[in-house]
Amino acid sequence: MKATVIGAGVAGMATAALLAREGFEVTVLERLGTYGGRAGSELIDGFRFDTGPSWYLMPDAFDHFFALFGKRTEDVLDLRPLTPAYRLFPQAHTPVDVPSGRDEAAALFESIEPGAGAQLHAYLDTAREAYDLALENFLYTNFNAVKPLLGVRRHLGKLARYLTLPLDSFVASRFSDVCLRQMLTYPAVFLSSHPHRTPSLYHLLSHTDLVQGVQYPQGGFKAVMDALYALAVEQGVRFEFGAEAGAIMFEGGRATGVSLIDGSAVPSDITISCADLHHTETRLLPKAKRTYDETWFAPRDPGLGTVLVMLGVRDKLPQLAHHNLLFSRDWAPDFDAVFDGPVASRPLGASQSIYVSKPSATDPSVAPEGCENLFVLVPVPAAEDIGHGDMYGGEASPQVQRIADAAVAQVASWCGVPDLSERILVRKTLGPADFAGRYHAWSGGAIGPAHTLRGSAFLRGSNASRKLDGLYYAGATTTPGVGVPMCLISAENVLKRVRGDRSAGPLPEPLD
Ligand SMILES: Cc1cc2nc3c(=O)[nH]c(=O)nc-3n(C[C@H](O)[C@H](O)[C@H](O)COP(=O)(O)OP(=O)(O)OC[C@H]3O[C@@H](n4cnc5c(N)ncnc54)[C@H](O)[C@@H]3O)c2cc1C
Repeated sequence: MKATVIGAGVAGMATAALLAREGFEVTVLERLGTYGGRAGSELIDGFRFDTGPSWYLMPDAFDHFFALFGKRTEDVLDLRPLTPAYRLFPQAHTPVDVPSGRDEAAALFESIEPGAGAQLHAYLDTAREAYDLALENFLYTNFNAVKPLLGVRRHLGKLARYLTLPLDSFVASRFSDVCLRQMLTYPAVFLSSHPHRTPSLYHLLSHTDLVQGVQYPQGGFKAVMDALYALAVEQGVRFEFGAEAGAIMFEGGRATGVSLIDGSAVPSDITISCADLHHTETRLLPKAKRTYDETWFAPRDPGLGTVLVMLGVRDKLPQLAHHNLLFSRDWAPDFDAVFDGPVASRPLGASQSIYVSKPSATDPSVAPEGCENLFVLVPVPAAEDIGHGDMYGGEASPQVQRIADAAVAQVASWCGVPDLSERILVRKTLGPADFAGRYHAWSGGAIGPAHTLRGSAFLRGSNASRKLDGLYYAGATTTPGVGVPMCLISAENVLKRVRGDRSAGPLPEPLD
C-alpha cells in the first residue's frame, strides 16, 4: 500500500513516519528545499535562527510520540530545563522571574498578591484536571465514536462552564493583580487566539508551563525537526523536496494520489495533506470535492499573524532570560489590534505586548562566542498586505520595517539595553506575506486558526475528507490544533483513521 504525504512540516514528517511503521510505502512531497515548514531554521553570519517555535511544552506528547517507535526522548533530544521558565517585563515595572514548579510559582504569586498562592494551587488543580480530560477525550481522538464521549458525561456541567466562560474572565475572577492575570492569560497567544474568545478550558495550558516546566532542546527546534526527519527516514520514508503539489487526484469518490505543478504524478492508495487546510481545500481540490469551501472558512478566525525580527547582537545581554514576555499595562488594545482591526492606540497595527527569545542563554551553537541571538515575535493581524520581511531576499515592506524598528526600540527601553540598536550585527525580518508565500498559510497567519469555541475539538473540522475516501489531513490547521505537540497528535489521529481505530486516548506504546 502506498501513501503520499503533502508537506514536510512537523505533521508531515510525523504522519509519514507512523504510516511507514505501519507498513505503507510513503512519499513526502515538499515544495521547499528542506523539511521543517514553519519550524524553520536559517544560518546567517554565524547566527542560527529558529524561525518558528521556541517553547518546548507538553513534554509528555513528545515522549509518547517517540515511544510509539520504541524510543526515549532523551535518545533523540538533549533537553535542558530553563530557570527561570521565563522573565516578564511588565510595562513600567521591575522584571519578574517566573519559575517552573507548583510551589515555586505559588510562592511568586503570594509575594505579588496576598492569597494568590492558594488561589494558584486551586487553579493548577483544575488546570491538571482539564489537561487530563483533554488528553483522554479531545486530543487523541477523531470524534467518530460515541463510547469515548460517554467518558465525559460526568464532567458535563464543568465542561459547559469551561467552554462558555472566556479565559480572561475565568482568570479575572480569581486574581486581581494585572501581571498575574496576564501571565495566566498569555497562553491564548499559544492558541493563536484572543483571550476573550478562548474558552477557559484552555487554562489547562498553565499546567504545562507552571507544573510540567519549560525545557529547551539543545540545537533548538531545528534539533526537533532533525530528529523527526531522521525517524521518518529510518522508517523508510522517501522525501522529495522542491516538489509542489498542484492537485489531489481522484477517481469517482476516492483520492488516488497527487499531481505536481511540474506535471508529474505520484499515485497512491491514501493521501494525507499536511499543508494548510485552507490551501488544501481551496487550491488542491475542485469545488465538487471540497469538504470545506470558502463559506466554511469565512466565519472562522485565521488566528494570529506575526512580524518576526531575528537579531544577532554583539556582546552579552544579561538583562534578558531565555524566554521573555513584554506586557503592556493595558493590553486589551493589543489583542483588539491583532484580532479585531485597527485600534487608534496601536498606530502600527501591531501588539505592544511582544515575546523575545534569547536561545543563546542556553545554547552556544546559535551565536558566535560573546554574542547573543534574539528572536522577537510581534503579534499582528493575519493579513498578507502587511507584507514581507527581508529574510528570504528583497526589502522588507515599509510596515514590517516600522514594526521591527519599534520592537527593537521597545526591547532597548523596557529591558534596559539602551545601546541595543548599535550592537546589532545581523537583522532579518519575516512578515505575514512570507507565511502565505512559503507555507501557503491561510491569510498569512503564522500559527494556525484560532482556538475559539468554533475552532476547537470537532468544531475545528475533521481530519478526513467527507468527499473523497482515502484523503486525510494533519497539522496545525486541522484537529486537534496548533503547536508542535498538537501536530504530533494529529499524525497519530490519522493513523487511527487508517486503522479504523475509534478509540480515544493515546495508542499503546510501542506501536505493534
Ligand atoms: C512564529 C511561530 C512561533 C511558534 N511558536 C511555537 C512554540 O513556541 N511552540 C510550539 O509548540 N509551536 C509553536 N508554533 C507552532 C508550530 O510551529 C506549528 O504548529 C507547526 O510547526 C505547524 O506544522 P505543520 O506541519 O502543521 O505545518 P507547516 O509547518 O506549515 O508545514 C506544512 C508544509 O507543507 C508545505 N506545503 C504547503 N503547500 C504545499 C504544496 N502545495 N505542495 C508541497 N508542499 C506544500 C509547506 O512548505 C510546509 O513545509 C509557532 C509557529 C510560528 C510560526
